[in-house]
Amino acid sequence: MEWIEDRADEMAELVARLVACRTENPPGRGLPECAAILHDAMDRLGLAPEILVLPGDARVVRGAVGDGDRIVYFHGHFDVVPAQDPAQFTAVRGGGRITGRGTADMKGGIVSMLYGAAAARASGLPEDGRIVIHLVCDEETGSTVGSGYLRHAGLIDPRALAMLTAEQSGEVIWNAAKGALSLRVTVHGRSSHVGQAFKGVNSFLHMLKVAAPLEAYAEEMSDRRTAYRVSPGEAPGSMVVIGGKSGGGSNFNVVPGSTYFTVDGRFNPEEDVEAELTRITRLISEAALQAGAEVTIDVTQVAAPAGTTLDHPAAVLLGECVTEVTGAPARFELCAGCLDTRWYDQVGIPAFGYGPGLFEVSHGPDEYVEEAALHRVAAVYARYANRLLHHDSGTWPRNSTP
Ligand SMILES: [Zn+2]
Repeated sequence: MEWIEDRADEMAELVARLVACRTENPPGRGLPECAAILHDAMDRLGLAPEILVLPGDARVVRGAVGDGDRIVYFHGHFDVVPAQDPAQFTAVRGGGRITGRGTADMKGGIVSMLYGAAAARASGLPEDGRIVIHLVCDEETGSTVGSGYLRHAGLIDPRALAMLTAEQSGEVIWNAAKGALSLRVTVHGRSSHVGQAFKGVNSFLHMLKVAAPLEAYAEEMSDRRTAYRVSPGEAPGSMVVIGGKSGGGSNFNVVPGSTYFTVDGRFNPEEDVEAELTRITRLISEAALQAGAEVTIDVTQVAAPAGTTLDHPAAVLLGECVTEVTGAPARFELCAGCLDTRWYDQVGIPAFGYGPGLFEVSHGPDEYVEEAALHRVAAVYARYANRLLHHDSGTWPRNSTP
């Protein structure tokens, strides 16, 4: 903690430099520039950085401490959601906080992880241990470019002991995250002027019939229960929104020739997202057949849920490290959103979200991070890497999402 607090100004300056690099996604700008800043900072910290150049402007920044076979991953993303105001790209430090776009989600968290990795080395890592850092550029739009590349290029070692990501958990341990499924359903008809309405096929009226069975489906999913602990104020069910966006037609006096609606779901770790996709698709197709409607279904997002149970030794150890650093009992919760933990969970690595920012200010106009939280989280990462890599993990169980 002393090692970290001695570098408080450096850490705040790095957060400010990263915030000033406008990596808004969409559209995904500023990524090569931000990767260069990260490379430079990691180089100074001795984290052996390299930049992976992917198609277009996509970049992944990798780094490591040590070169042993026993691995813990620190994973983050340097893209941010679009700003509400361009002033958000000028970080403001004061009152123990740094305010600006991405401070909570998750450039502040990246700085905690980088200084945590450097602090872990300063406190002595075992010969056979290694911290591997992965920083990706497209988490806000599904991670398939950055994390998808790491996964498919075999750069996520399934034998790794654990993975941590410093997303905006507010120092709660997210040992599970929801899965997501997004669809856009287009109902086709034939347009015709109101004076000759009999010649048309009304896609809106067909859409009503196609969407109707999804109401009962959404109710059924919201009645499902997760065994993971949810945050206060969050529901234990899986959530499905029908018609979050909808529309179509060309004018009030024309039979609509095409109408669309969206379906968006957030599923508990116990659910099989692919199976739910099949169910939803079948409900829509059957209703369309019955109504004589023609539909096209575009799947715009599929993200598997992830979860590590509280009795996994990787979870127990993380809880202990949090208590040792903060002096308070660790809290474990299910994250209401998706996390990049899923890419690691899918190959059996216990994976957790734990970061300094607050969920409730992320993506908003007043996004900030507490500096004291940046330091505590860095200390937890350092301590966790150290204890985990010194741990006798001969009988370390694989993780498999229930
Ligand atoms: Zn994030």
